[in-house]
Amino acid sequence: MCPAENFESSNSSRTVLERCLQLSKITDEEQRLTRTYFTQAHSDCNNLVDEWMKQAGMQVQHDDMGNIIGSYSTHGKNENPPVLIIGSHLDTVVDAGKFDGILGVLVAIESISNLHQNKMRLPISIKVIGYANEEGVRFPCARTGSKAIAGVLNNRELTVSDKNNVTFQDAQYQFINRSSHPIVPVEVLNQNLVGCLEIHIEQGPVLSSSDIPVGIVTSIQGADRYTVKILGTAGHAGTVPVSSRKDAMRYASKLIDALYELSIKNDFMLTIGVVDIKPGATGTIPGEVVFTIDARSEDDIKRRKQINQCVSNFSECLSKHGLKMQFLNTYSSDTKKCSKELNSVLDEFIRECGITPFYLKSGAGHDVLSFYDIVPISMLFVSCKDGVSHIPEEYVFIQDVDLATKILTEVIIKMRSANEF
Ligand SMILES: [Zn+2]
Repeated sequence: MCPAENFESSNSSRTVLERCLQLSKITDEEQRLTRTYFTQAHSDCNNLVDEWMKQAGMQVQHDDMGNIIGSYSTHGKNENPPVLIIGSHLDTVVDAGKFDGILGVLVAIESISNLHQNKMRLPISIKVIGYANEEGVRFPCARTGSKAIAGVLNNRELTVSDKNNVTFQDAQYQFINRSSHPIVPVEVLNQNLVGCLEIHIEQGPVLSSSDIPVGIVTSIQGADRYTVKILGTAGHAGTVPVSSRKDAMRYASKLIDALYELSIKNDFMLTIGVVDIKPGATGTIPGEVVFTIDARSEDDIKRRKQINQCVSNFSECLSKHGLKMQFLNTYSSDTKKCSKELNSVLDEFIRECGITPFYLKSGAGHDVLSFYDIVPISMLFVSCKDGVSHIPEEYVFIQDVDLATKILTEVIIKMRSANEF
């Protein structure tokens, strides 16, 4: 039997889903859910979460980066107790679903509420955090709240403006002034941490396609971005024979196809998201094509080697045909492994609930990444219907939320003996 069975967890999951629905009504735009950084909706959302955290027995703090932090204190007199962070984000993309990020915060609040109702205090402090601005919709900076709390935020990231030319600082000033709660400077939590957990919907089809309710994340896969420029010769579409053209688009499409074949054969993600053709006229042979590559997988070395080899071979072929190529690596992030020790605690309770634990990688980045260099991290994915996310059709099943809440409650209880981590 699942050890958390004695808690009223089906009531918990109902509460979680009702609250997801309530928060989905708090939006920047009428008719659809869009909740971006430092807006009125951001303040209103934090106010409601503040109430729920307090009902769950937590002390609540609002910081100047827009985060909301609920602390469930220890039973002991230790003034500097070990800290477990559990959080996810409360902001959304444009025309968003109701569960991305939000579900993780509300499951954590419910798990603490379970402990509180059972008058259970632990020798460690639990911080439940609703991070601000994971999505980076309003300003071109993302994961701002979690980076600030982890102490890894570079202030240069904040010298940005939104599309109405409101600077980050002005938006922050308005947010602070509007708040009905005291706003404190962001507190960096990088000392005395025992772990950082995140519950999140999968946002992909792996769990739902196999009818698996939850999955333990092994790693957040690495990603590389490149820009490729192919330089040929523009010309008249009606006069230059196709066989003798230096048509940049023809060769770009060959390379794109070769890269896609490579990714399918070697099981990595590949996306050509932007293609720019010059001069870009119907009756003109393309003289220049620039396109982007986004490639992701767990095996960073293998993926990079294969892409470089493919592009290098293609470059030789191009020069034989009198075309040139430029290849630029614009972004790289290595795969970040989740903590085996923390994952083994998730594994244990999933087994106790009579389910064989399922492991999967995360294709997307998450707030927990901000803490990677500081403390062991771990993630539990909850299945989302048909794997769809970032759209209003995003959906989770109550029984899966129920299970996630039980597992998290048990993991927190396990932290009685925090030195096991
Ligand atoms: Zn998310």
